[in-house]
Amino acid sequence: MTNWTQAKGPGETPKSNAITDVACPFCGLVCDDLEIVRDDNGLHVVKNGCEKAIAGFDRNVDGAKPQVDGRDVDIGTAIQAATALIRKSSLPLYGGLGTDVDGIRAVMALADKSGGVVDHALSEAQYRNFRVMQTRGWIMTTLTEARNRADVIIVVGSDIQKLHPRFFERIVNVDESLFSETPPKRTVYFIGKGLDQSAVKGPRIGEIITLPCEIDRVGEVIGALAAEVKGTPVTHDTVAGVPIADIRALAERCQSSAYPVFVWAPPSLAFPNADLVVSTVSDLVKDLNVKGRAAGLALGGNEGSISAAAVASWQSGYPLRVSFASGKPDYDFLRYSIPRMLANGEGDALVWLASFTPDLGPPATKIPTVVLGTPGLKLPNPPAVFIPVGTPGADHAGRIIRVDNVVSLPLRNLGRSNLPKASDIFAAIELAL
Ligand code: SF4
Repeated sequence: MTNWTQAKGPGETPKSNAITDVACPFCGLVCDDLEIVRDDNGLHVVKNGCEKAIAGFDRNVDGAKPQVDGRDVDIGTAIQAATALIRKSSLPLYGGLGTDVDGIRAVMALADKSGGVVDHALSEAQYRNFRVMQTRGWIMTTLTEARNRADVIIVVGSDIQKLHPRFFERIVNVDESLFSETPPKRTVYFIGKGLDQSAVKGPRIGEIITLPCEIDRVGEVIGALAAEVKGTPVTHDTVAGVPIADIRALAERCQSSAYPVFVWAPPSLAFPNADLVVSTVSDLVKDLNVKGRAAGLALGGNEGSISAAAVASWQSGYPLRVSFASGKPDYDFLRYSIPRMLANGEGDALVWLASFTPDLGPPATKIPTVVLGTPGLKLPNPPAVFIPVGTPGADHAGRIIRVDNVVSLPLRNLGRSNLPKASDIFAAIELAL
């Protein structure tokens, strides 16, 4: 239920009609403490929002109309056209998948009925984690555990500030922990050059130490760190330009700390074989747990990608890149990559869903495309069918799974527009198919 109350905005100015404790769906952190005001001009984030949240909530989405072949039509006509296109297709590709739990459930049901392939737009980054989790296992923590217990944070080659602007504020810089009102200061390490450290500040922060290397050489530093922890030291003076003495000092720090947490965001590790970095970090964490305690914390998960992978797993048994063409779920993370399939001329219709940000536009393709998108979505060419849909948590209620996979949060209808839910559109198509 919407919580209308007297609340305060920036500078502690009281705001009337502010909606408090709003959950934000615009990155995987799903911060749930925002305050938002709604007036005749739409929604305005007045407290606890970052630039991504403001861009997401404050956007004007009025006036978008369903279209078929570039012409405005009513919603029924657009649904009929989308249904006809999917019915004609022998291998529809369901991509984008920027949606909430209800949305991805509806996509899975439609893909099952139409014999399609399901893949999220950010799967390539997520698979840097999945491949390690599937083959080796790992020891991971949650946002709450990291906030309350971590005494050392090691950021591995990832620009956390860019992807998750409130991570340091909400998880690292916090004044109190569950166990103490005056917890000890934390040390924050950055492995990699050029990572934004501007938000790492405040009374809780002790030292900030950088091990500067090129981002695509982070794996070498992590490998040397793992060797040091294992007791098989590296004999070189430097690794990827980082003095071995600094790597050794970090190894000793990890071994003497109560709860070091290694943090990475898979989208930042955009270089070949980056899953090997995740694999080495995961093994390093396991080694540290032989005598002490340590954990990993993978971020990312923007554009509903955590919800998409979770729902795909519980509906089909596999985390995305699933084909229903044979009448049962088939999984192959290389074969059923939609970017690869489009590049190789596989698939004869693209159904694209992007309900959070206008940046998640579909790729350019010659095959007929149905787009269910937030108004203003960046489109490389006019699709055969465009149906504007609401954003869960702004235009309608919903539910989304947080980046650490342990919490699913309700998203509220803030009344920004009357745009339909993507899940309702997909359910109508499935019924008509
Ligand atoms: S950090 Fe992420 S979840 Fe938190 S307010 Fe910003 S965009 Fe929203």
